[in-house]
Amino acid sequence: MSRIFNFSAGPAMLPAEVLSRAGDEMLDWHGSGMSVMEMSHRGSEFIGIAAQAEKDLRELLAVPANYKVLFLAGGATLQFAQVPMNLLRGKGKADYVATGEWSKKAIKEAKSYCDVHIAATSEDRKFTYAPKQWHERPDAAYVHYCSNETIGGVEFHAAPKVEIPLVADASSHFLSRPIEISKFGLIYAGAQKNVGPAGMSIVIVRDDLIGQAAKGTPSVMDYKLQAEADSMLNTPPSYSIYIAALVFKWLKALGGLAEIERRNVAKSKLLYDYLDSTRFYSNPVAKEDRSRMNVPFTLPDAKLDEPFLKGAAERGMVQLKGHRSVGGMRASIYNAMPIEGLQRLVEYMREFEKRHG
Ligand SMILES: *Cc1c(COP(=O)(O)O)cnc(C)c1O
Repeated sequence: MSRIFNFSAGPAMLPAEVLSRAGDEMLDWHGSGMSVMEMSHRGSEFIGIAAQAEKDLRELLAVPANYKVLFLAGGATLQFAQVPMNLLRGKGKADYVATGEWSKKAIKEAKSYCDVHIAATSEDRKFTYAPKQWHERPDAAYVHYCSNETIGGVEFHAAPKVEIPLVADASSHFLSRPIEISKFGLIYAGAQKNVGPAGMSIVIVRDDLIGQAAKGTPSVMDYKLQAEADSMLNTPPSYSIYIAALVFKWLKALGGLAEIERRNVAKSKLLYDYLDSTRFYSNPVAKEDRSRMNVPFTLPDAKLDEPFLKGAAERGMVQLKGHRSVGGMRASIYNAMPIEGLQRLVEYMREFEKRHG
């Protein structure tokens, strides 16, 4: 067996320990004689798995008791609609911060539901920084931002302080560091970056904000109804919840979010220190707002992109091509990417520079 270093932005690498445990348990989960995929979601085995997943996630993030934790079908893109459906609470207006491709998508979707005001944007510098001065309307239902722009590689390293409920799309840095949940009204994340299989999202929401979904909201998309049903109003994405549960256990065993943050700092530092030491490669993001998870960089000439990617693949490193909207390269280095992947990447970049610089 050989595992490749997969730098994809998502679906992304999962911890090898988690995948191999899931493999061991595939045919017979804990003597039940069946796979988790085959279990009734109303049976005691699966209810135990789901309850443990929620308990471990609450512990990892120190989620306060007045917050609901939901495991919902559908990617983070579905939340772009589900958030306004649930959180407008009759107010008809919501504020958004525009910092790149993902926040722009959220804004576009929200416009079908309400009056949208842009509270801050980094468009003036091509979305290469995280704006700190926001002008949210005091009567808006909430202010939404993308706390890590996966494509642009821009991360808010601290949650901004605002007077109205703060909503974050944290998809691509969820569980990469400790966060203070009480600063948020709602935080959501698609699973395929740091948690598990694509197609599921985790939503953490303050309980006073739910229960006023807009008329016409499908019941399975109503946070309150899902919270009352422990995210099992209908059949939940049960296998995805099981994999997420294994990932939470993996994180706890290695020392929790403080430890994974320490590793993520060390990993991203290896790459950024090298980028700063050379003029061959460049990264456009303001230093203080650089993402620890997604590192875009360009070569001096786009003609070198193909040879760079080919050489990387020959050395067991794949999915380094940047998003089509920005070009160049992007290394996504989520929790499950080992530091050896970064060491190999930097070593290769150095060698490539020597040959072509
Ligand atoms: C990946 C991603 C999404 C979209 O996830 P889907 O599962 O494709 O809907 C949304 N926001 C951010 C920040 C992402 O990284």
